[in-house]
Amino acid sequence: VTPSVSEKRYGAAPAVLTFDLEEWFCLCGEDFYGDPARWESFEPRVEKLTAAILEALSPGGHRATFFVLGWVALRYPALVSEIARKGHEVAFHGMFHRRRDEMTLDAFRGELRAGKTLLEDLSGQRVAGYRAAAWSISTLSDPALEVLAEEGFLYDASVTPVPVIGRRSNPCFPVELRFGARSLIEFPPLSGRGWFSTVLFGGGWAFRQLRFSRLMRRSDEFRARGSPAVFAFHPWEFDSDHPPMTGVPALHRLTHFAHAGRLPKRFARLLARERMHAFRDLL
Ligand SMILES: [Zn+2]
Repeated sequence: VTPSVSEKRYGAAPAVLTFDLEEWFCLCGEDFYGDPARWESFEPRVEKLTAAILEALSPGGHRATFFVLGWVALRYPALVSEIARKGHEVAFHGMFHRRRDEMTLDAFRGELRAGKTLLEDLSGQRVAGYRAAAWSISTLSDPALEVLAEEGFLYDASVTPVPVIGRRSNPCFPVELRFGARSLIEFPPLSGRGWFSTVLFGGGWAFRQLRFSRLMRRSDEFRARGSPAVFAFHPWEFDSDHPPMTGVPALHRLTHFAHAGRLPKRFARLLARERMHAFRDLL
């Protein structure tokens, strides 16, 4: 079914804070690090980094959405429970960080069922949100979005208007997709113009590189029109001892290492500016 699409605006649109809870070596679309069979052999970092993030969120009463990789939940079940206990939202980031376009729809549905059960058991929450590995639901016509609605998910946060990771024709602002009686909200990340193109403002290398005032101006523009400003980070971006990675494609190197040292300070400024919210607060 082709969905009907309508823009979704919110009365008081907040800044939404999200993390993709995965290890530094959980890449996809890449031969060496992309093979989960090898993941046990790398130095684990996610538990300690996430504990520090939770500490940082606590004083300001911030709430965040954690898109948890199934593989991480299986290894650190107590970490998922702790995230939920601290009042944050637990959502799903796939089992093994496989790209959506590298899975059949049946395999995709199987992951949703396994992940939802696993995360709901660990968190005691209803798991309502999904983000695909590497933003790999690339258009609103991907039938995976209807499968998400069928499997009881209320929203997706995988589709971006940013070229290379998404398509320029994709929406910049939240939309509601209707598939007959079912619906799903799509929440794009904060984006803006830069380098003669559309770039991700809410995370990754552009968040670390652009002037902070420019990022916040864009965030305020989004929110003034009723669209939440969605920020997206990974625990490994906060790692001052990020293990070196060899032979990975340029896009991964850029995401992992460009201006990485700037993130902790910027992140602290973001938290100091106001209280952050989880997607759950918008449902
Ligand atoms: Zn990821």
